[in-house]
This record gives sequence, structure tokens and C-alpha cells, in this order.
Amino acid sequence: MDPFADTLQRLREAFVSGRTRPAEFRASQLKGLSRFLRENKQLLQEALAQDLHKATQLDSAFIRKEPFGLVLILSPWNYPLNLSLGPLVGALAAGNCVVLKPSEISKSTEKVLAEVLPRYVDQSCFAVVLGGPQETGRLLEHKFDYIFFTGNPQVGKIVMTAAAKHLTPVTLELGGKNPCYVDDNCDPQTVANRVAFFRCFNAGQTCVAPDYVLCSPEMQARLVPALQSAITRFYGDDPQSSPDLGRIISEKHFQRLRGLLSCGRVVIGGQSDESDLYIAPTVLVDVQETDPVMQEEIFGPILPIVNVRSLGQAIDFINRREKPLALYAFSNSSQVVKRILAQTSSGGFCGNDGFMHLTLASLPFGGVGSSGMGSYHGKFSFDTFSHHRACLLRPPGLEKIYAIRYPPHTPRNLRV
Ligand code: NAD
Repeated sequence: MDPFADTLQRLREAFVSGRTRPAEFRASQLKGLSRFLRENKQLLQEALAQDLHKATQLDSAFIRKEPFGLVLILSPWNYPLNLSLGPLVGALAAGNCVVLKPSEISKSTEKVLAEVLPRYVDQSCFAVVLGGPQETGRLLEHKFDYIFFTGNPQVGKIVMTAAAKHLTPVTLELGGKNPCYVDDNCDPQTVANRVAFFRCFNAGQTCVAPDYVLCSPEMQARLVPALQSAITRFYGDDPQSSPDLGRIISEKHFQRLRGLLSCGRVVIGGQSDESDLYIAPTVLVDVQETDPVMQEEIFGPILPIVNVRSLGQAIDFINRREKPLALYAFSNSSQVVKRILAQTSSGGFCGNDGFMHLTLASLPFGGVGSSGMGSYHGKFSFDTFSHHRACLLRPPGLEKIYAIRYPPHTPRNLRV
């Protein structure tokens, strides 16, 4: 018998019910805490006595943002320059020394980062190291003061396990399946333009790409021709010859994606060419929740459409799965967008567009749950790579005032 199971389930159910979210509820809980302190003053006084009667107005309190020390940055292949330099800017700006380990899969960028980049920074504080999983495993045996990892959730677990051995803090920028809800009241062509563009950007190899569409069968019937029209406008009748459509990074990922083309029914695209690592922009319908294409992050130009009967059903579908890195909601009704925002959780959110939220330096970028932890971009990068040291400077004198803290805590002593 698990002694904690009932309690944990009760609290989780309360959280899912949404009752902790309204401002009134939160205020009432804080008022309860305040009453607890007031009504139990006598009871608590003994325990708290040594912290009472401070003269903190003479102190100076501040946060000192300090570099952690030696930082490890592990980056992926899909935006190999951006996802190496982005974290690097934050780490260097905060004053850290950095080891950068770029992805071994994006070989050409890895080479430039290893051979050219070090000439532009002080090499006594910066190093690029090379290697794949095996070498990275050995690197992770060393103690770092901070690890910033971008990659898939499985490798994220390996990184976090290694970091735990040294109690090293981590930021994990991971991936997952990003839902895209499309309401019945939308203009299908506008939605199709935006979804097709963001799905096919970098041949779909983007961590925040809309991974699948949730909509009614009626909206699907209007959306499919609109997606076909958008894809033809963007990439022509023969997308393989378009200079604007990328290729799949490797044979391994190509084979994985080709396998996913057999899920559901192909209504757009479906072609592939192994010699060119080409997968056509593809739309799948009649997709079931249990199909392989709905089990893993697609990371390619394939868009499954899953039918839901209502907004509530779409929200349940999203909440049954791991928390995504990004969530997209298309609707002409701001109430619908706000309801999805309020009743789900995701790293980031964008209403009526693709991943524009991550282009703003004023917003933190990061995941939640299995899509990651921590965030960066803009000022948040500096903060991520800094230890926030809480400091208080007290004048050396005034010992008479502070003497009240010291035992013995007799009534006589307290009157001093
Ligand atoms: P990956 O996890 O395979 O590789 C990332 C880094 O980890 C690489 O440097 C690689 O050499 C290293 N690595 C790989 N396997 C390892 C192992 N077994 N032990 C130790 N190190 C290992 O990821 P990827 O395939 O390069 O990139 C795709 C994934 O990254 C997708 O899941 C995508 O969603 C995610 N991603 C997330 C973001 C984000 O900002 N949240 C951005 C881009 C990509």
C-alpha cells in the first residue's frame, strides 16, 4: 500500500479541476496563511524568537548576478549555428567560461564552429569540443557548474542524470508534439498558409513546428484544399525542385519519416526520394491517436490531422499528452483562444500564427514538463547563466540591538 498515493491523487485532481487558478482563490489562500500567523502568534513565538526585532533598515540588501563558472553547452543539428551561438551569448555575457559541444550530425557547421569561432573569442575562456553520444557521455562525467542542453527528451534524461551526479543545475531545451487547434469559424486559407509555412520551414525540422492539427471533420474538409493551395503556391507543382524546401538531415531520419507516411491516408504529397533525402510536404487524414505518427515528434514536413468534435474534446486530447513546447490555437473568437490558453499548459503559446512568439527577445523561450525546463532569449539568457546571489550587508556596530537574538531567551534578556 502506497502511503502517499491518495494524497497525491487528491491534490492532482484538485489542480486539474482548475480551482487553484482564479485570483480570488489564490488571494483567499494567502489570507489563510496570514491568519495562521496571526492566530498562532503565541505558539510560533518561541521558534521564531531569534529572528524577530531585526533593524534591517540599516542593512543593504541586493541580488548580485554572478557567473556560475564553467558552463557546458550541448547543441543539436537542426539550427546548428543559432542554437550554439544563442546560448553562448548568454553564457559569455554573464561572465562564464564555456565548453561548446556542437552536434556531430551537422558536420559542416561543427567544423566552422570548431575551427573558426575560437579565433573570435578569448581561447583561454572558451573551447569547442567535438564528438557524438559516446564522447559526450565521457564529457558529461566531468563536473560543470551549469549545463545548457538543446536536443531530444531522451538525451535530455541522460544529460540530467549525469548532471545530478555533481548537483549541476541544468537548462533543458527539448522537443515534443506541438498541437495546433483550428476552430470551425476560421478562414481556412489563412490558417492553411500559416500552418503549411511553419510546418515546412526547415523541412519541418523545427522543435516548435506545429506537429499536428486538431479540428472538426467539417473544418478538415475545407482545410485540406486550402493546404494544397498554400503548398503549391509556396513550392510549385514539383516541390522537390523548389529552392525553398529543405532536405532531411540524414538517412536515418529520412527512413523514420518515410515509415510515418503509411499512417492514416495521404491526401497531399506523400512522395519521397531517398537519393535526395526528399520528403514531400504531406498531409495525412484519418489518423488515429494510437498511430506511430501521433506517438513521436515528427520533425519533418508531414502534417497529420486528427478530428475532434468540440473544443472541450481538443483540450482533453492536449491534456492527455505530455506538455508540449509550443501550442497553437486558431480561432476568430478571442474567447476560444483564451480558453485554450487557460485550460492547457505548454512551454510557449501563439494564437492565430506559428512560432512567432520565440522571435521576441522580450519573451522567455523554454519548455515545461517533458518539453524542457528553464528558458532563455534576450535578458532571460543572461539570467539563466547567472547565479542570483542574495546578499545583505549589515553595519558592523549596533550590537546592542542585535543582542536580543542571542540565548538564553529569558523574559529578562528579551527586555534588554
Ligand atoms: P539530440 O538530443 O540527438 O542531440 C543533441 C546533442 O546531444 C548533440 O550535441 C548530440 O551530440 C548529443 N547527444 C546525442 N545523443 C547523446 C547521448 N546518447 N549521450 C550524450 N549526448 C548525446 O537532438 P538532435 O537530434 O540533434 O535535435 C533534435 C531534437 O532537439 C528534437 O527533439 C527537437 O525538438 C529538439 N530541439 C529542441 C529545441 C528547443 O529549443 N527546445 C531546439 C532545437 C531542437
